[in-house]
Amino acid sequence: MLSYRHSFHAGNFADVLKHIVLVEILEHLTQKDKPFDYIDTHSGAGLYDLYSETATKLGEHQGGISKLKNDKWPELKSYFDAIDECNKDGKLRFYPGSPLIAAQYLRKKDKAWLYELHPKDFNLLKQNTARHRSIKVMNEDSLSNVLGLLPPVSRRGLILIDPSYELKTDYEAVFRLVQQAHSKFATGTYALWYPVVDRQRINQLEKRFIKSGIKNIQRFELGLEPDSVERGMTASGMIVINPPWQLKDKLNQLLPRISKALDAGEGAYFTCDQLVNE
Ligand code: SAM
Repeated sequence: MLSYRHSFHAGNFADVLKHIVLVEILEHLTQKDKPFDYIDTHSGAGLYDLYSETATKLGEHQGGISKLKNDKWPELKSYFDAIDECNKDGKLRFYPGSPLIAAQYLRKKDKAWLYELHPKDFNLLKQNTARHRSIKVMNEDSLSNVLGLLPPVSRRGLILIDPSYELKTDYEAVFRLVQQAHSKFATGTYALWYPVVDRQRINQLEKRFIKSGIKNIQRFELGLEPDSVERGMTASGMIVINPPWQLKDKLNQLLPRISKALDAGEGAYFTCDQLVNE
């Protein structure tokens, strides 16, 4: 039984990077009139109360979203708009997870498919997305089931893969999943989140992607501290296949400023690179 609950971590520095990338991809998909499918393989609860007992226990949002003041970031307007949509009085209390951010971009013709395995988070996800008719929530193991959705009827879409990496085998499993998914739907955009807890695992994951034969892969990573085996997650990143054309330039400009705004210490760094060419 998995024990990870995202409510302990919502709005932390890793969520900030992940959700900025998510918003950029969704904006790009909605620029065209054609419908698209959004698939979230690891959805979480969808919405988090930053004042809840779980969120306040670690207070991780204080080193993440709570450090960014929206009036200072015109280039992140869409990201802040997605958060404001969940806080009608203008004060930051609720932080939207990936499903509720995506829900804000869905037009009538678009569809979303959300997987969540944890029974409690699944129930919350169901409640939090109940008013969105084009969203289907599934209390299933995405690793064994998501391939059945591919390629989507729309032939356009984003697959967000955001595991908790509770099992060491998850690193290998998500790589295989992306590889198989890509062989069924090569034109889709894939965004895979990873934590830097043990650098060797990430180096291995990166090598796998480089050797995979999949083209057009970018990587974005934000580190608050240098690598360390003792300090838990010091950095996190996103591997994006078939990214929007402007994503890399935008993050190249944003990440140094975000790192500064998050008061990242000495040894902080960011990476924006093209792992595999188009
Ligand atoms: N994507 C969410 C967001 O950005 O707001 C956060 C997701 S959280 C990091 C990972 C979630 O994946 C957890 O809620 C966990 O219960 C769920 N999970 C883990 N393994 C899964 C699997 N094989 N299939 C579906 N959900 C899974």
